[in-house]
Amino acid sequence: MNLFPSNIAALKIKALETARPLFAAVDDIAEQNTAKVLKAFRNHQVSEYLFRTTTGYGYGDSGRERLEAVWAELGGAEKALVRTQFVSGTHALACVLFGLLRPGDELLAVTGAPYDTMQTVIGYKVHTPGSLKECGIGYRELPMNPEGVNIAAIAGHMRKNTRIALIQRSRGYSLRKPLSIAEIKVVCAEIKRHNPECICFVDNCYGEFVDTLEPTAVGADIMAGSLIKNPGGGIAPSGGYIAGKDDLVDMAAYRLTAPGLGGELGASLADSRLLYQGLFLAPHVVAQSLKGAIFAAVLFDLLGYKTLPQADDIRSDIIQAIELGSPEKMIAFCQGLQQYSPVDAHVHPVPGPMPGYTDQVIMAGGTFIQGSSIELSADGPLRPPYIVYLQGGLTFEHAMLGILGAASAIAEL
Ligand SMILES: *Cc1c(COP(=O)(O)O)cnc(C)c1O
Repeated sequence: MNLFPSNIAALKIKALETARPLFAAVDDIAEQNTAKVLKAFRNHQVSEYLFRTTTGYGYGDSGRERLEAVWAELGGAEKALVRTQFVSGTHALACVLFGLLRPGDELLAVTGAPYDTMQTVIGYKVHTPGSLKECGIGYRELPMNPEGVNIAAIAGHMRKNTRIALIQRSRGYSLRKPLSIAEIKVVCAEIKRHNPECICFVDNCYGEFVDTLEPTAVGADIMAGSLIKNPGGGIAPSGGYIAGKDDLVDMAAYRLTAPGLGGELGASLADSRLLYQGLFLAPHVVAQSLKGAIFAAVLFDLLGYKTLPQADDIRSDIIQAIELGSPEKMIAFCQGLQQYSPVDAHVHPVPGPMPGYTDQVIMAGGTFIQGSSIELSADGPLRPPYIVYLQGGLTFEHAMLGILGAASAIAEL
């Protein structure tokens, strides 16, 4: 069966030969993380009676409470909030910022420009009603070096009112490297050395289960992310999480619900089983998507494109950036990938505006869960040098077929 043009089919075989030996390290991490999840489930006596929905205020929702205890253990954190009431990762991250920052405080991003949707939360580039800036909260950023965070410059950037240091683990829509867990540890230690009161906050989106430890286990005070990315395992229907120090998670919870209420309320409107089962599957699913990313790096390198990370680089997020160099190739890539989606394979993605983003964005992703990016998806803002960001894949086979579809669509331009 010849699904792809003959040159792409030949390159597939070559790419697999290079990629397969690199999968062993990914499998090893998935095994360790699966063992960690099973241990947390055992420690907290996860049982079938917890898998249910609740109503109204959701007081004493044991399924929710137990799940959050499991999450805290997995994150090496004191407390966690894991809720479908978070509409997205941005919402969870914004609850931390608005929950912890007060007028006169300052937020310092030590990993350069934050992810697009966080820029509107901060309100530093474009005026956004309701932004941190509008609430009188200052913002500065420390650009990254090619090698990573500019550690030496942290001391000079800390001020008395620097209340939160924002550390974005993933590359987001940029070509900079994601931060490894080891680097996050060093960055947090350096921040604390100069200002022990400053809260180290990690945007952990796309990083969960890529390594065997999470940021809150190595010195971060609090972290947040999305349940329709890595830790939802492709099963969680919606939501986000926050994990970290007790008092800080409580302050963020007051922003999610209301001061005085916090995390004690919030009905499980979605079957809690989906959040437990997604968490159970997450280490394996993350490994599947990482294998897809490695395969894409090898294939597009063979095709002559710049890929970041390169196939054998150590990864700290699931994103594979490919510099395609033209808007036509970005569009072809996304349309080719879309044809190999389980849902909406007949749809032709086109660039368009997106809430929270300043440039036009093209997105491919025929996903079971709307916008899920632990499912195979590709996207990117249409701006030079025209980089497509590929991520996800619930199964390696699907990721590989989608990537070959994308490569074929570009070959046919
Ligand atoms: C995905 C992501 C977010 C949040 O995006 P949502 O689409 O709102 O979940 C924030 N930061 C980074 C680095 C991300 O990758």
